[in-house]
Amino acid sequence: MTNEQWEAILHNDVSYDGSFYYAVKTTGIFCRPSCKSRPPKRENITTFNTADEALAAHFRPCKRCRPTGARLPDEEWISIVTQYIDRNYMNDLSLSHLANISHGSPYHLHRTFRRTTGVTPVEYIQEKRIELAKQLLISSRLPIAEIGKQVGLRNTPYFITLFKKLTGVTPAHYRQAKSECSKEVYHDEQS
Ligand SMILES: [Zn+2]
Repeated sequence: MTNEQWEAILHNDVSYDGSFYYAVKTTGIFCRPSCKSRPPKRENITTFNTADEALAAHFRPCKRCRPTGARLPDEEWISIVTQYIDRNYMNDLSLSHLANISHGSPYHLHRTFRRTTGVTPVEYIQEKRIELAKQLLISSRLPIAEIGKQVGLRNTPYFITLFKKLTGVTPAHYRQAKSECSKEVYHDEQS
């Protein structure tokens, strides 16, 4: 990317629309230079001469500036968000952050996400975190607090409460039950 292109992106310069498109590696979205979304970090940007080239490189058109001229279907918009959550659920994720990276409004994202997936963004993040916590409880000897930290739930009492709410048992009980279960299997194989 040239300095001139970077300036055009920073200033949402309409006169550059059509001359190039820019894609953001961390979100998988591409835009027109004039897009009003918050400017990304320069090192995360790739530029393309045409929208087709950006599509061919598997970037999705921005919902806000519509670089292909067509409206982005809701399912595709939401899949940008779910894929971002899948890669980043161990970090702090707020609705406004997700709206930012997916170039939509928090309110619209919340509604569309629920209509498309059946759960809210927050519920989706929580399910993701508890799924990973289950795997870590079985496959590692890490303390409960450390597992909470690794899945993005640094507040241990909250982690335990949420885990119990979604699975019916505490993390400690879950681990214990699973380890007894595998011991039984081991016994059966021995006898
Ligand atoms: Zn855009």
